[in-house]
Amino acid sequence: MKNFKLTRYAPTPSGFLHLGNVYSFIMTYHLAKKHQAKILLRIDDLDKERVKNRYIQDIFDTLDFLELPYDIGPKNLKDFTANFSQNKRMAQYSKSLNVLKKSQLLFACDCSRNKMEKMHPKGYYTGFCRNKKLSLEQKETSWRLKADMHQDISIKDLNEGHIVGKLPGILTDFIVRRKDGLPAYQLTSVVDDLHFGVDLVVRGKDLFGSTLAQVFLSEHLDPNTFAQNTFYHHYLLQDPNNQKLSKSAGASSIQFMRKSGKKKEDIYRMIGEWLGVKEPIKSLEEFGRYV
Ligand SMILES: [Zn+2]
Repeated sequence: MKNFKLTRYAPTPSGFLHLGNVYSFIMTYHLAKKHQAKILLRIDDLDKERVKNRYIQDIFDTLDFLELPYDIGPKNLKDFTANFSQNKRMAQYSKSLNVLKKSQLLFACDCSRNKMEKMHPKGYYTGFCRNKKLSLEQKETSWRLKADMHQDISIKDLNEGHIVGKLPGILTDFIVRRKDGLPAYQLTSVVDDLHFGVDLVVRGKDLFGSTLAQVFLSEHLDPNTFAQNTFYHHYLLQDPNNQKLSKSAGASSIQFMRKSGKKKEDIYRMIGEWLGVKEPIKSLEEFGRYV
């Protein structure tokens, strides 16, 4: 069996964690164990409008409550702010943006969301600014990477070997630098994983498109080792009552369950039930049989 060096939990602190997030951590934990990888806790905090300290705190509280271990990363909010915040890596993001800039694959775009919705029924980007030659230095423009939705992109999948996919329409010419000048998610995710040395990425099937975008992007970076990473896209945990799992403080949030007296065993049992496992599951370790 192939061993890996490092994988990660990478929750976004834009809401309270729910059972779906915990399921992702469980999968990551067991795949790390199986492949002798260490686990990094990576928290993305650049999006100041959505990220709140109480959500970052909720990540620590949830991991602690469920006794989900990790090897590398912040131990608490204070440690996070002082040593791990993405603000610490701004120079690295700029460096990568400059590499892309030199590759001639970037173009500036001043389209508003409203305009994009008018140009395409699903809001896909239609390449409107590709040939407008707007200056990249112009204020209030985003930087887009020329990326076609018909292009084949090959990734290394943990179980299937190499698989080839096409970039989803919504990620056509995806943004690498936002209008406010901040680096965008696809870029920071690649730079952060490279920075920490992640070589196994475990994430939900909903992020398969992002994997393709990130592998495509990284092929233009130096070093382009991110494209050598192995990926595992897990099934998304569904509420059997078909309720959408949301990051609100509602009934599916771990915080709500913890405050209403549930124990970690109850959370694990519930996830097992939602997965349709016959034997009741009471601990993190018991999930190992199903990974
Ligand atoms: Zn545009």
